Amino acid sequence: MSVSGRAEPRFRALSSANERGIRTFTRPMDANGVATRVSEYFGCNVFGFQQMKKALPTEDVKLLQEYAVSGSKLTLETANKVALAVKEWAISRGASHFTHWFQPQTGSTAEKHDSFFSFDKDGSAIEIFNGKLLIQQEPDASSFPSGGRRATFEARGYTIWDASSPMFLVETANGVTLCIPSLFVSYSGEALDKKTPLLRSIHAVNEQAKDALKLIGDKTEYVTVTCGPEQEYFLVDESLWALRPDLVQCGRALIGAHPPKGQQLEDHYFGSIKPRILNFMMEVEHECYKLGVPLKTRHNEVAPAQYECAPIFEFANLASDHNQIVMEVIKNVAKRHRLQALFHEKPFDGVNGSGKHVNWSLATAEGINLLNPGDKPHENVRFLYFLAATLKAVHDNAELLRASVAPAGNEFRMGANEAPPAIISAFLGDALSEVVEKIASNSTGNLSDRAKTIDMELAKVPEIAKDNTDRNRTSPFAFTGNKFEFRACGASQSVSDPTYFLNTAVAESLRQMNERLRSLSPKPDHKTVLAVIAETFKGAKAVQFDGDGYSKEWHQEAEKRGLAHNRTTPAALAALLKPSVMKMFANHKVMTEGETEARYNVFIERYNKIRLIELETMNELLLSQVYPAAIEQQILLSTALKSAKEITGSYPSVQLESYKTLVSKTDRLLVEISALGKVMEVAKGTHDESKAATFLADKAVPAMAQARALASELEECIDDALWPLPKYRELLHIS
Ligand code: ADP
Ligand code: MG
Repeated sequence: MSVSGRAEPRFRALSSANERGIRTFTRPMDANGVATRVSEYFGCNVFGFQQMKKALPTEDVKLLQEYAVSGSKLTLETANKVALAVKEWAISRGASHFTHWFQPQTGSTAEKHDSFFSFDKDGSAIEIFNGKLLIQQEPDASSFPSGGRRATFEARGYTIWDASSPMFLVETANGVTLCIPSLFVSYSGEALDKKTPLLRSIHAVNEQAKDALKLIGDKTEYVTVTCGPEQEYFLVDESLWALRPDLVQCGRALIGAHPPKGQQLEDHYFGSIKPRILNFMMEVEHECYKLGVPLKTRHNEVAPAQYECAPIFEFANLASDHNQIVMEVIKNVAKRHRLQALFHEKPFDGVNGSGKHVNWSLATAEGINLLNPGDKPHENVRFLYFLAATLKAVHDNAELLRASVAPAGNEFRMGANEAPPAIISAFLGDALSEVVEKIASNSTGNLSDRAKTIDMELAKVPEIAKDNTDRNRTSPFAFTGNKFEFRACGASQSVSDPTYFLNTAVAESLRQMNERLRSLSPKPDHKTVLAVIAETFKGAKAVQFDGDGYSKEWHQEAEKRGLAHNRTTPAALAALLKPSVMKMFANHKVMTEGETEARYNVFIERYNKIRLIELETMNELLLSQVYPAAIEQQILLSTALKSAKEITGSYPSVQLESYKTLVSKTDRLLVEISALGKVMEVAKGTHDESKAATFLADKAVPAMAQARALASELEECIDDALWPLPKYRELLHIS
């Protein structure tokens, strides 16, 4: 289509989007041209325990393994040996540089590269790397968010090697870099990143869970948290994306009329994956496999242009690092395919948003899943104890869990007819709910067929729970047979945030249950343990809900039950400042009160910055693109009206009306633009960040929605050849 004028770039972009070929990449092949099995090259760019075993004495490998699970101290001597081994390995693979790879509170990863290259005493060029360089680096912390914890005179921050997550090589077209997963802390040891509290929270759970097991007659060396994050994302063609300043600047479409065909035909979810996308996914998987990320599933999601992948679950710390890698790889590989990946929670109003379902459980050193009902009475008691602890954690800390899933984008997603509401509740399914109910009410009586019979020995629980696979997509926190699925998490979030909040809450409920149990008997029998389980179930009852979380009735019911419904991010984040929450984090040594306050500050500041960027982008978009298009449409109509009058002697009445409507809408547009400007001005002038955040949530979001509605009306009545911005139907339907 050849068009000149305002819409020309859009039509050109559409043509190039439609004409894209399939990108191929070089897959590893054997001599006969058969693709190498994944199992043969999986983790080839990772310096994991297998490589360590080859390169290091057994006792050092053992030390490192211990460190990985319990955080025990590592000596410089061990670090020196690891450094030497990893240097040889990395250089033999073509690496020239190394970097500590860490996760500041920006949601993405950070790195500062150093070359292995140096001079020796004689001035000869050599490659150097040692334990000191491996353990610690010192990036300037002053440009990372700290939430006010880092005075400028103490701008020093340290990155410290996290030996529990393996180092890996990042290959780019012109070289290879060794990445060293690291913590990021301030001069005085305060956490400046997302990994530090996650690791501390894993240790907190370990301590309490081990104590619980000891009390109920089990033993293990350690208990760790397992995690499998499902990642949703959108893909948009690069040329179309580039013409949308809102997608470029904010990651979401601030305006855009809904197309006649969105997702209502339900033809995308699990639909056949289009070749361009499938080939992209295959390259993502290939890159991830090399990096030791065990991606398992891939499929289309509900909204058009929306997709999902999920890995095989791992230890939470590794799962969190790997999820960062997955997002990074998706972004980079998308560019190679001339696509842009969007991780925003609600990039397109009117169709489903993107979540990150964080599947969560606890496992012993022996690999026993503590949320897996076993088939012996003792295993059932253990299962019920940890189930009760998790329910109690959600009950006692519902607001905290809501705060853990509060990135600015999730405000648009939660409760928007596709994602769980902002009321935190837990789903168990009919059968398990019945079991829980019976235990809570100390009734040993008849369970339904579905729940089978139970006596206090609970011999029948396992079949019940395993059969109980009904899915409830409307629940923010659902039990799915042998794990909980925290569905309220936002797609853009680090896995760490929801996980360390949840871990800490579970550590605390285990602590309370253990204490109670100990007070009843130092060596409790099954009956006593069950009594505590029963009590705990009873206390956590209010948070249990198996019905439709989208329904109005639930909102009313939740209110009656006294459950919090913190709709906005600032309302949700306020939970972090509650003294009980701060104390809990401090008692479990996850964060000091100061660190928790700092987190709050970082979250709030980030929210404000995001909303202000959106306001500014929207203002510019409306003024520089929508308004001129509307004016041009007016000129078009007025010219037509004038010639009609010249010919027929009067203005055609319906056309005249539509012209007048257009004029008044264009006028209103300027009013909306100025309203957005005012909101921006007030927010910028509000120096108290919490007040600014509340103001932005209450005023900016509705103001943007109102302006957006008007822009949509204009989009629908302006000549397609005058409309400069790629439309929803174009952005969302990739050929
Ligand atoms: P669904 O879409 O049906 O929920 P997926 O296969 O997409 O299932 O994702 C389920 C996720 O849960 C996977 O990442 C899986 O590895 C993870 N998972 C399974 N068992 C556990 C567990 N014990 N702990 C943590 N995550 C788990
Ligand atoms: Mg899924």
